[in-house]
Amino acid sequence: GVVLPRGPITVDFEDVSFAYPGGDTVLHDVSLSIAPRSRVAIVGETGSGKSTLAKLLTRLMDPTDGTVRIDGADLRDVRFSSLRERVVLVPQEGFLFDATLRENVRFGRPEATDDDVTLAITELGLDAWLAGLPQGLATEVGQRGESLSAGERQLVALARAYLADPDLLVLDEATSAVDPSTEVRLQRALEGLTRGRTSVAIAHRLSTAEAADEVVVVDQGRIVERGPHRDL
Ligand code: ATP
Ligand code: MG
Repeated sequence: GVVLPRGPITVDFEDVSFAYPGGDTVLHDVSLSIAPRSRVAIVGETGSGKSTLAKLLTRLMDPTDGTVRIDGADLRDVRFSSLRERVVLVPQEGFLFDATLRENVRFGRPEATDDDVTLAITELGLDAWLAGLPQGLATEVGQRGESLSAGERQLVALARAYLADPDLLVLDEATSAVDPSTEVRLQRALEGLTRGRTSVAIAHRLSTAEAADEVVVVDQGRIVERGPHRDL
């Protein structure tokens, strides 16, 4: 398999169609090029195919037709170890373990020290949030993270992705409403996380779409518009 060198990633969807096994076609001839280091937000109605795009991009499944490429290589030809190193998906419902904040953030990077974890949190502008947690990194997040708010669970998922240091970040934003202070924190964290790397964010929050270089509008499995946020 192909091993991709590290560095900013280019993404190309070439006439990609997809049907879930035994189901109708949910993506129709999607073509989309994403330049290195650009931040793309994908928006669209529920069921329009946004998460399906994210799953194809991270090779959770392969297209029924067409090709997904990163840096010109067909994803099907890229070694899984190389993909895992360079491409990180933050799923819509991020998975947290019944363990401490520390263990949840460094999941995937077990060698990370407390300094590494704290630095990741600080770089994302979340140091005040961390300082406000009485147990700090030793905070138990509970089963599936239920001791945290939905917004805080997303913050943990973003800190985990930052520590993984991917070249391509694919974020399937959670739909849950968050309070205004968490909203500001999420926005700041996302800004830090996407800086210098290619990112594709399925945006449910307006601030994510506004911060993107380009917004792609998906409707019923087709791209119907793309451009800077202010033009849409
Ligand atoms: P949302 O905004 O609600 O997250 P979405 O744009 O992410 O929606 P997708 O999850 O990509 O939408 O779903 C696109 C279509 O594919 C929908 O019609 C959905 O019902 C269907 N679908 C999604 N996952 C599966 C699956 N595992 N098996 C069969 N059909 C699926
Ligand atoms: Mg979705």
